[in-house]
Amino acid sequence: MTVTDDAAALAREAPEHNPFMAMLTRFDRAAELLGLDQGIYRILKAPEKELKVAIPVRMDDGSFEVYEGWRVQHNSTMGPCKGGIRYSPHVNIDEVRALAAWMTWKCAIVNVPFGGAKGGVRCDPRTLSIGELERVTRRFTSGIIDIIGPDRDVPAPDMYTNEQVMAWIMDTYSMHKGHTVTSVVTGKPWGLGGSQGRKEATGRGLLTMVREAADVKKLDLADATVVVQGAGNVGGTIAELLSEVGVKIVAISDIDGYLLNEGGLDAKKLVRHLERKGQLAEFKGGEYIDGQGLLEMECDILIPCATENQITSVNADKINCKIIVEGANGPTTARADDILDEKDIFVIPDILANAGGVVVSYFEWVQDRMGYFWERRDVNLRLAKVMRTAFRQVLKRTKTSKVNMRTAAYIEAVDRVANLQKMRGLYP
Ligand code: GLU
Repeated sequence: MTVTDDAAALAREAPEHNPFMAMLTRFDRAAELLGLDQGIYRILKAPEKELKVAIPVRMDDGSFEVYEGWRVQHNSTMGPCKGGIRYSPHVNIDEVRALAAWMTWKCAIVNVPFGGAKGGVRCDPRTLSIGELERVTRRFTSGIIDIIGPDRDVPAPDMYTNEQVMAWIMDTYSMHKGHTVTSVVTGKPWGLGGSQGRKEATGRGLLTMVREAADVKKLDLADATVVVQGAGNVGGTIAELLSEVGVKIVAISDIDGYLLNEGGLDAKKLVRHLERKGQLAEFKGGEYIDGQGLLEMECDILIPCATENQITSVNADKINCKIIVEGANGPTTARADDILDEKDIFVIPDILANAGGVVVSYFEWVQDRMGYFWERRDVNLRLAKVMRTAFRQVLKRTKTSKVNMRTAAYIEAVDRVANLQKMRGLYP
């Protein structure tokens, strides 16, 4: 039976910028091409569990603030749910739902035994003191404590959360249990159950993707130019790793503007500058341009590492590169997909490209449960191997199913989860 559900039509009509609809449009396309059973389709489409919590917090001035938070578990067919927690003033339930589903597909593509989940707290972490941030985190953790755990659902960092936030989550959970439980979150600091290489893992995974994609497109990386959108953990790391291997980064952006240097930026120095100053402006090794325009710059490889909905039906036809490697989740809308296809741009989709983070999260969870920690070299080698294998499997699908990398990645992921779902059967 093929898919007849009206969700596909709904997704096509929905606003382009709704991330859940963006996910659903791609999922529907894959389900259609796979001839996915209608029942399985319905199971995989519906998030398993959604929890919304109010987070009352005492602010430094003695007043109370109440934040909203969500944890969505999309699908646990492959194992405990897994996915980051983001703090953002704009986060909403549809975004968290989409991000949770993307985690399901992402874990399936790289074959880590996790389902997909995501969390979000609507707050602006830049305006919170460190004490306020800690209280938000601990209260959110206690709000979702019944549905998380090493065998249930394992959070990790995402936008505006970091190792410190993960340490607080681990500590809060452990206090409730009465003993230290490191494997309840990943992305923790080294020494508190964190893994070597986790912080750089998403960026390092992108490096493997860039190499593989360049190989397919017969692009010599020694002569290539790269533009990176976003100078956070992911953007900063990939810029640094690429310039370490001699690839020229001609521009990189932050929230206000971008830094340009046609001769190539010194990414190592730039990352040190960011660590000290927190913004690109004032960096001596390039020209800082206030405002937009970075995505439309001519280059060989564009790496969006910021947020959702950056390449849309409005600007897709102005994108001027050969390869896009998606470091962010959902940077390209479903309507932009077709435009990029017409322009023959080779897109390595988010659910494959940025999976390095969750791969090393899996390694961290394994190490925590073993109580035995690996060397950085071993982590990096294993990560590269997993990413290479996933890339090649998706590439193979592009040939057998005659589709682009994004659709092939969805087909591969949905097929895997659907087959496992069939094997598990339905309870009761
Ligand atoms: N937030 C990251 C992602 O979107 C990492 C998730 C994890 O490690 O669980 O892939």
